[in-house]
Amino acid sequence: MLRSVILAAARSSRVERLVATAPFSRDVVRRFVAGATTDDALRATRELAAGGLAVTLDHLGEDTVIPEQATAVRDEYVTLLGALSAAGLSAGADVSVKLSALGQKFDDQLAYDYAQSICRAASEVGTTVTLDMEDHTTTDSTLDILTKLRTDFPTTGAVLQAYLRRTEADCRELATAGSRVRLCKGAYKEPESVAFQSALEVDKSYVRCMNILMSGEGYPMLATHDPRLITIGADRARWFDRAPEEFEFQMLYGIRPEEHARLAGEGYTVRVYVPYGGQWYGYLMRRLAERPANLTFFARALSSKK
Ligand SMILES: Cc1cc2nc3c(=O)[nH]c(=O)nc-3n(C[C@H](O)[C@H](O)[C@H](O)COP(=O)(O)OP(=O)(O)OC[C@H]3O[C@@H](n4cnc5c(N)ncnc54)[C@H](O)[C@@H]3O)c2cc1C
Repeated sequence: MLRSVILAAARSSRVERLVATAPFSRDVVRRFVAGATTDDALRATRELAAGGLAVTLDHLGEDTVIPEQATAVRDEYVTLLGALSAAGLSAGADVSVKLSALGQKFDDQLAYDYAQSICRAASEVGTTVTLDMEDHTTTDSTLDILTKLRTDFPTTGAVLQAYLRRTEADCRELATAGSRVRLCKGAYKEPESVAFQSALEVDKSYVRCMNILMSGEGYPMLATHDPRLITIGADRARWFDRAPEEFEFQMLYGIRPEEHARLAGEGYTVRVYVPYGGQWYGYLMRRLAERPANLTFFARALSSKK
């Protein structure tokens, strides 16, 4: 119930204005977001690399409504990739891109063209690109654009969400040689017609999807902080004889950092999803919805300002 309310607020521009301008928000944001600038993204990448962790960088922003905004997002990624390369941090890094930030909701050809520019810039510096998955109304368009991008840039990664009823079938389609697929539970508010609603059903779906990806020929990227699913992931790697470089765990910046370090210490590949930039509202609200206990950060930040 609380999750639904927070996710509904994530789409409200009135609540956004309220939260985004509140002085206490800054302290809460700092826990989940690396900072506002490209330099902040580089600093976080350097720090994580020093701890044996890989990164995927997300320039925050989504649901772009005019072409000029989409152009700015494309330019931001190209700048980031150049800066990563200049700092010697681009090899083995990944960038996560939301097609809605590139105009998908009003012109999917524009989103494809801009995603292609980002893939080209990334491939020139040895970095891969992963297309984040957004709400279910965009799934078909995102997978279509993925297929087209993979013609020239076969390492382009997909994201599949275990809460969607269709995802087992999508996993089967995408578990092919060289195919990078991030499996996550899913972060949006979705209707029962398309998505499992209970945590148990979502977890069971995650395991079924993980079985397909881990026994397939692609490169699975298991994106979860759930201790049970991480244990099952490690088990499946043993069952299906996957070496640490043949799959990876992924987690979000600021969430269970001790687990990032523990898994990396055991020799697993661990990639941290590092968001940066000023448009943090939608991202933060999804993190709050996943764990309403995070609202206590707001409460604490608020009371410390009194
Ligand atoms: C690398 C990465 C990329 C992602 N990309 C996408 C995407 O493209 N599209 C999409 O829809 N979703 C994406 N997600 C989000 C994902 O769908 C889930 O909403 C999110 O990961 C929470 O699910 P969980 O698997 O961690 O399990 P949960 O059952 O939600 O959490 C398990 C445990 O992890 C910890 N935890 C989880 N979330 C939080 C939090 N916000 N704050 C503090 N602790 C927490 C808690 O200890 C919790 O008990 C991504 C997640 C990751 C890790």
